[in-house]
Amino acid sequence: MYKSIAIDGPAGAGKSTIAKRLSEKIGFNYLDTGAMYRSYTYYFLANNIDINDEELINSKLDDINLSIEDNKFYLDGKDISKEIRSEQVTKNVSLVSSYRRVREKLVEMQRKIAKQSNIILDGRDIGSHVLKDASIKFFLTASAEERARRRLQDSKETNQDFEAVLADIKRRDDFDSTREITPLKQADDAILIDSTDLSEDGVIDLMKQYLEQNHVI
Ligand code: C5P
Repeated sequence: MYKSIAIDGPAGAGKSTIAKRLSEKIGFNYLDTGAMYRSYTYYFLANNIDINDEELINSKLDDINLSIEDNKFYLDGKDISKEIRSEQVTKNVSLVSSYRRVREKLVEMQRKIAKQSNIILDGRDIGSHVLKDASIKFFLTASAEERARRRLQDSKETNQDFEAVLADIKRRDDFDSTREITPLKQADDAILIDSTDLSEDGVIDLMKQYLEQNHVI
């Protein structure tokens, strides 16, 4: 039986960076589930499909040919890993990911991938829904201000200001936590890590300690 590690938390908590570095350190694979929702969102935007129309979105789902290799995301074989980080995708991804059929389709894919190797999945609903029986679950958070500050630091787009990034983070947190289907929520058996005052290395060391204590590694 392969091991799985769930890392959930709000936008900008550092889940992806931490999950990727931790996966390299302990020899697990890594799946960024947020990037899957971003890829679908990018597909709809690029094809001028009205994302407010849930029926229309449902009717297009079978046309999407998403593949993932080495943490890179492809639509019909074209690498879209950079495009899915754009401001436009970020602004629209929460709406797309609130649709039931979108979630069902991507969750099915996530579960299939998780069965194939030792793996870390990061997202919003991994511990509470996708992998309820994960070997260990973390809920990684930080204050909204700190998350906005980190987002800004990492962002390649130069025309963003702090207040706008903070507002977007709060809007997404609110949307993701109040949506009807599997909202962002800490699983009852998840370990809470508040990284507001922790460095990346600090978070990784702490997680590694928990993994060792719980015989995951
Ligand atoms: O993790 P990231 O910020 O890239 O995720 C983008 C968006 O995808 C989130 O704001 C959320 O709306 C959605 N998402 C989700 N469930 C997941 C991962 C991401 O709904 N497991």
